[in-house]
Amino acid sequence: MSSTLQAIRGMNDILPQESRAWQFVEDSVRSVLESYGYREIRMPIVEKTELFKRSIGEVTDIVEKEMYTFVDRNGDSLTLRPEGTAGCVRACIQHGLLHNQVQRLWYTGPMFRHERPQKGRYRQFHQVGVEVFGLEGPDIDAELLMLTARLWQRLGLQQVTLQLNSLGTTAARAAFRDALVEYLRVHHTRLDEDSRRRLDSNPLRILDSKNPEVQALLADAPVLSDYIDAQSREHFERLCSLLDAAGIGYEINPRLVRGLDYYGRTVFEWVTVQLGAQGTVCAGGRYDALVEYLGGSATPAVGFALGLERIIALLEQQQTAIPDNDPHLYIVTVGEQAQRHGLLLSEQLREALPALRVMTHCGGGSFKSQFKKADRSGARFALVLGDDEVAKRQAGLKALREELEQQTVGFEALPGRLAELFDN
Ligand code: ATP
Ligand code: MG
Repeated sequence: MSSTLQAIRGMNDILPQESRAWQFVEDSVRSVLESYGYREIRMPIVEKTELFKRSIGEVTDIVEKEMYTFVDRNGDSLTLRPEGTAGCVRACIQHGLLHNQVQRLWYTGPMFRHERPQKGRYRQFHQVGVEVFGLEGPDIDAELLMLTARLWQRLGLQQVTLQLNSLGTTAARAAFRDALVEYLRVHHTRLDEDSRRRLDSNPLRILDSKNPEVQALLADAPVLSDYIDAQSREHFERLCSLLDAAGIGYEINPRLVRGLDYYGRTVFEWVTVQLGAQGTVCAGGRYDALVEYLGGSATPAVGFALGLERIIALLEQQQTAIPDNDPHLYIVTVGEQAQRHGLLLSEQLREALPALRVMTHCGGGSFKSQFKKADRSGARFALVLGDDEVAKRQAGLKALREELEQQTVGFEALPGRLAELFDN
């Protein structure tokens, strides 16, 4: 067993019986995003390590301990992307996409983090990221949340709830940060080692701590909402009223802080209680400071990323019906003429009916064994060809899942008959 090659721990194969659910989610995401006018951008999977250090921040779990970083043959330090925002911003600045323009963008693909693998947490996982540049008002924040709500509805997902908070401006956060540090210093003996280290470098990250002891201490700590500046407060109130008008429910969670340094004002998470500890399926917010920080001109920005593995786990958990892509028709051919003709006839049918899914039996065998395979393929009908049928230019059409009598259909009439049957 030890000599068998295995995939890397935390990096999963998506097998044929699983890929339909992935395609269903990917197709739905794409169609919802297109219905709002968002355009796809594709970035490389590898970027310079520096980009992530600067954009995500040196004192974050991701940069400190989760990145897959290596030195390439030129001696450059490169990293497999742990998330997509940094690369997206880099690409927009590099190609001048942010000059007095609004960009509504999305991307999808694998991300890499060296975390402890467990349910809903992997080392290679997949995100859909959505980023909007050039809009500063709460209307676009609201649109992003409406878009995600529509996606849950399209996917048939239930019980995903929205948590919302405002982080205020950098200055407001600085005042809060001072108050938080003061409080935590008084109680520093109750902090764990990680949190103590962060007390100097990045105290807001302590709010993200998963340690129950630290969380208990935080219950009485100063709250960010008391420090929010007037403009951010107004932005937040307007966002809430837009969500109310759209009938999108939310819960204001004053303790919600996104770990990343560059967030400000709106932050949100869509969460479910049905996936255990890994319950956040989608997370995002406003990051007005990042573009300038990475060398572009000051550009407001807001976005989110959703975790596809968690969405798919939730679909499974809720036993959501996923449309299948089984063949419509399985072509059974017995005899040499039939085999030859079966391949050609299949081509003619695909030509005439581009949406028809036709699987042609290959590899010979008896009627009985071919019917078994037809059945296993999931096809609704089998088209049966023997040498006799070919001579008469006709085929038998047999329902595999319904009680219907077998019919004989002439070759010329087949496309019309199949179009009727499959409604295409
Ligand atoms: P978490 O708190 O679960 O670690 P995060 O704050 O690190 O999440 P983000 O960086 O905001 O996550 O990524 C957005 C989404 O991507 C998450 O809400 C989650 O759905 C998904 N995600 C993040 N890390 C992983 C992972 N290791 N495996 C699977 N999905 C992940
Ligand atoms: Mg994480």
